[in-house]
Amino acid sequence: MEIFEQMGADGHEQLVMVSDAGSGLKAIIAIHDTTLGPACGGTRIWPYKSEQEAIRDALRLSRAMTYKAAAADLPLGGGKGVIIADSHTEKTEALLRAYGRFVDTLGGRYLTTTDVGSTGRDMEYIKQETDYVVGLPTTAGGSGDTSVMTGLGIYMGMKACAREAWGNESLTGKTVAIQGFGKVATHTAHHLMKEDAKLVVTDVYDGALDRARDLGLTVVKPDEIYGVDCDIFAPCALGGVINPETIPQLKCKVVAGGANNQLLSDADGEALHRLGIVYGPDYILNSGGIINAEAEIGREYNPERAREKTERIYGIMEKVIAISKREEIPTAKAADRLAEDRLNSVRGIRQVYRSN
Ligand code: NAD
Repeated sequence: MEIFEQMGADGHEQLVMVSDAGSGLKAIIAIHDTTLGPACGGTRIWPYKSEQEAIRDALRLSRAMTYKAAAADLPLGGGKGVIIADSHTEKTEALLRAYGRFVDTLGGRYLTTTDVGSTGRDMEYIKQETDYVVGLPTTAGGSGDTSVMTGLGIYMGMKACAREAWGNESLTGKTVAIQGFGKVATHTAHHLMKEDAKLVVTDVYDGALDRARDLGLTVVKPDEIYGVDCDIFAPCALGGVINPETIPQLKCKVVAGGANNQLLSDADGEALHRLGIVYGPDYILNSGGIINAEAEIGREYNPERAREKTERIYGIMEKVIAISKREEIPTAKAADRLAEDRLNSVRGIRQVYRSN
């Protein structure tokens, strides 16, 4: 597909390709939609095999940010930056600062933050060149590690799903099978443990499993996690894990976790719906990170405000469930409907404003 065709297919506003010979920077910034506010989304640093692959990722991820921000009721649009580089061997101060100068030229249409391959420390380098950056470490006056609020948001979303599945939001005594015991899962687990849920976890990294054992959690092998006899399955590692191969193995009543793009395709959301499994759409449940970063924009970061907004994920998930029931559509589709309704209502207000 030609690039304009790719942009037109999902309504992207802008695609910027930047290059800096001195530092070796090659980056792409995609701005999907600024109806609700400046486009915000992390900068992914990844050794893409081709430019086309990097463009596709930037377009896909920036669109997802529009939906995440819209559904979370944030005054932000969707954007994403990708830097074509290996974050372990090619990330330098020069490269990050060159990137920061390009972000600055966009004049605030795009605000960047952390993503796969980029850290709070990297944001500090970018900050040397532009004010259009959030997710700085707390030591630099920023909102710090996003996974704290992401974990809280997943827990709140799980409770809303539990209320739908069992008529009661309590997770006491419920068994939660967690795939991936990294940063987000660990914060979610702490909330679950306070409520006396039973946790079964897996990971491909021994260090993560040791942490889980130290907390007294049951550990299973990675390929056993789908078939665990549990109430809630929480994907907290990879995308595409809900698919025709894994769905028949699931014994849960709820799927609710933090990983991005959990459904391999729309058909998998429909399959969960048909089976009566309540699915908490990924971008609704994992929006705590962007909610936290937004609390830093244009004012002093206030953790209480970020926490209070993250707790609203419970109510947002309830709205998604209500749309799903009313329209008889899977929750994944209902989440899209919620985000699109907000975007359309603001677009409508703008039209009225312009015509006056
Ligand atoms: P992380 O790297 O700290 O944790 C991921 C864990 O998953 C690691 O321990 C890894 O070893 C494990 N893992 C990888 N492949 C696995 C497999 N096949 N089976 C089992 N475990 C496997 O990352 P994180 O920050 O906790 O993010 C987890 C997920 O949540 C990612 O999909 C991320 O995109 C998403 N997410 C994170 C945030 C955030 O604030 N960090 C926000 C939104 C979404």
